[in-house]
Amino acid sequence: MQRESGLSRRRVAAAGNLLQRVGARGGPEAAVQRAVEFAKQQRQLEQSRLEMMRGYAETSGCRRHYLLGYFGQASGPVCGNCDNCRTGSAQRDSSPSSGPFPVGATIRHREGGEGTVLQVEQDRITVLFASAGYRTLSLEAVQEQHLAEKVADHPQPPDPSRGRRSG
Ligand SMILES: [Zn+2]
Repeated sequence: MQRESGLSRRRVAAAGNLLQRVGARGGPEAAVQRAVEFAKQQRQLEQSRLEMMRGYAETSGCRRHYLLGYFGQASGPVCGNCDNCRTGSAQRDSSPSSGPFPVGATIRHREGGEGTVLQVEQDRITVLFASAGYRTLSLEAVQEQHLAEKVADHPQPPDPSRGRRSG
């Protein structure tokens, strides 16, 4: 395979691993198709993590809020301890439940499909899309180009009795 393809040993090994992960059923073409799809998803996921980290680095809001949002938790009051809280920029930017896309709302994005708003800042929102992972969207672009619409506010308020299922 290495000689035939002219690829380096490492690349051949990586391709082999990928094919192994997606399985060989359906013949080589289907397997390659799946491998390509899988690699694309992995790249998207990595991309979305990068976006999230960049958002964390660039946020002028409370950094604790940002992290809680990343893990899908509705945020309480700002922490008062991070650098942005200390300089006061977090308080200025803290408007999670106002605006067109409040935290917890479900939105439908033209390209990303449905997603949940995790973080709201003055000029941007962070959304977790079921298909595309985390994305930071410019509020201005979203509104001017009508890229997304709100589908629902807080569709499922946290219910303490949920999540206790055994098994
Ligand atoms: Zn803070």
